[in-house]
Amino acid sequence: MPSSTPTLVWFRQDLRLADNPALHAAVQAGGPVIAVYIHDPVGDGRWPAGGASRWWLHHALEDLDAQLGALGGQLILREGPSLQVLQALLAETGATRVVWNRRYEPHHLATDTEIKTVLRNQSITVDSFNGNLLHDPHQIKNLSGNPFQVFTPFWKNCLANLKFGEPLPAPKRLPSSSSSLPSVPLAKLKLLPKIKWDSGFKTHWKPTRTGAEHRLKNFVREAIKQYPQDRDIPKLDGTSQLSPYLHWGQISPLEIVAAVRAASQDASAGGIKYIAEVGWREFAYHLLYHFPHTAEQPLRAEFAAFPWSPDPKLLREWQRGRTGYPIVDAGMRQLWHTGWQHNRVRMIAASVLVKHFLQPWQAGAAWYWDTLVDADLAANTLGWQWAGGCGADAAPYFRVFNPVLQGKKFDPEGDYVRHWVPELKHVPAEWIHEPWNAPADVLKAAGITLDKDYPKPLVGLIEGRDRALAAFEKLRAK
Ligand SMILES: Cc1cc2nc3c(=O)[nH]c(=O)nc-3n(C[C@H](O)[C@H](O)[C@H](O)COP(=O)(O)OP(=O)(O)OC[C@H]3O[C@@H](n4cnc5c(N)ncnc54)[C@H](O)[C@@H]3O)c2cc1C
Repeated sequence: MPSSTPTLVWFRQDLRLADNPALHAAVQAGGPVIAVYIHDPVGDGRWPAGGASRWWLHHALEDLDAQLGALGGQLILREGPSLQVLQALLAETGATRVVWNRRYEPHHLATDTEIKTVLRNQSITVDSFNGNLLHDPHQIKNLSGNPFQVFTPFWKNCLANLKFGEPLPAPKRLPSSSSSLPSVPLAKLKLLPKIKWDSGFKTHWKPTRTGAEHRLKNFVREAIKQYPQDRDIPKLDGTSQLSPYLHWGQISPLEIVAAVRAASQDASAGGIKYIAEVGWREFAYHLLYHFPHTAEQPLRAEFAAFPWSPDPKLLREWQRGRTGYPIVDAGMRQLWHTGWQHNRVRMIAASVLVKHFLQPWQAGAAWYWDTLVDADLAANTLGWQWAGGCGADAAPYFRVFNPVLQGKKFDPEGDYVRHWVPELKHVPAEWIHEPWNAPADVLKAAGITLDKDYPKPLVGLIEGRDRALAAFEKLRAK
């Protein structure tokens, strides 16, 4: 028998209508559906959304409101401590049930657990669902009943145990309450940047559900077949660029899996590789869930004593894309202009910061947190600890990426560098990844005076490598 009491749907990192189990449950209940988003930066603890994420969030909320509006609903925006806001809304609407899709960041888990307990004690029904991962992190365990720390066995286990259901459809209509509820104007949340650094975001992204659907469709149709080869080449549009949509839940991982499975046969090898990358996202959440201290501390405890050499100037030049290593500088400028950086370049840029420059991985992670539109605590932590050699399945610390060789291998013609570091655009491919080694006449012809138009490496290749290895030896000797 359908209920006539309203259900509150608390939207968080699941800003979509399709394949949204919490929304689906609310609609199934039959009563009015009250959709709410609560802006609660204090509840985000040490991890309030960074600048680029806030830009994305603004547009995603606007879009979600429009989608709900088309079905006869509305997104109610509120500000303040989540529990108090929910309690006020329950009182205003007479709702007796709250539903949400689970979040897995440690601070969010703590908040959600507390809210669940308090509301249940007040006789409110609270139901939570898994809408953001292929499986809840606690579902996967190794044979000894412990969490995995290596990706390959983790993913094998997932594939063996996973049952891919069909994504839930979006509701066709939303039973909404007759009286309209006060909602904070979106602009009042002040999510958009005060300084105008977002013009590149606007041209690069469509931060809407339609934007996500287009990307997924185009990727599956045009790029997935070549994904295993192209995904490492930063100048190509060879990856899906779905990460910000996944982070904010404008598309679900299950929708992605379904689209890939429906793709043509000859896309299948690419599809397997691609879904395994979505598996890395699952792995990242698995790790953060089981090792919640790792957002700030290394998973491998011995690395807490690593002899970093914090240097604000080096960090700033890295952030600005003026390290003297062209592939790194190209990546850091791509990040600044678009809010996204190619995965291969994330690996190289992170490695140079942590190893050649000996800056703590947390400093790099903090910059990415602020500047990535796809900033995601689980994936960012995994990526940075991987680069720092201190996480799960990490590159051993003593294996130091050489940014020149990486550049030559993955950007052999230098096109990616030329695009993002235009001052080097006339440097021939042979020298573009190491302009400091180019003969004087080549530099002159390219219009480059080193340390005037473009820096020499702030820390030399060999010097940086030796310093990193010496620091590692010091750690081992402790
Ligand atoms: C230092 C560092 C920091 C990173 N920070 C983030 C971050 O804050 N947010 C983020 O989403 N990813 C992060 N990554 C992982 C990866 O670089 C991005 O997920 C990827 O570049 C996003 O582009 P895409 O959507 O085109 O990826 P695709 O190649 O199309 O992959 C599809 C999806 O799989 C997931 N995925 C792919 N690779 C990884 C990975 N290594 N770890 C976790 N998930 C992965 C992403 O959700 C991605 O959207 C980081 C990697 C490194 C090395």
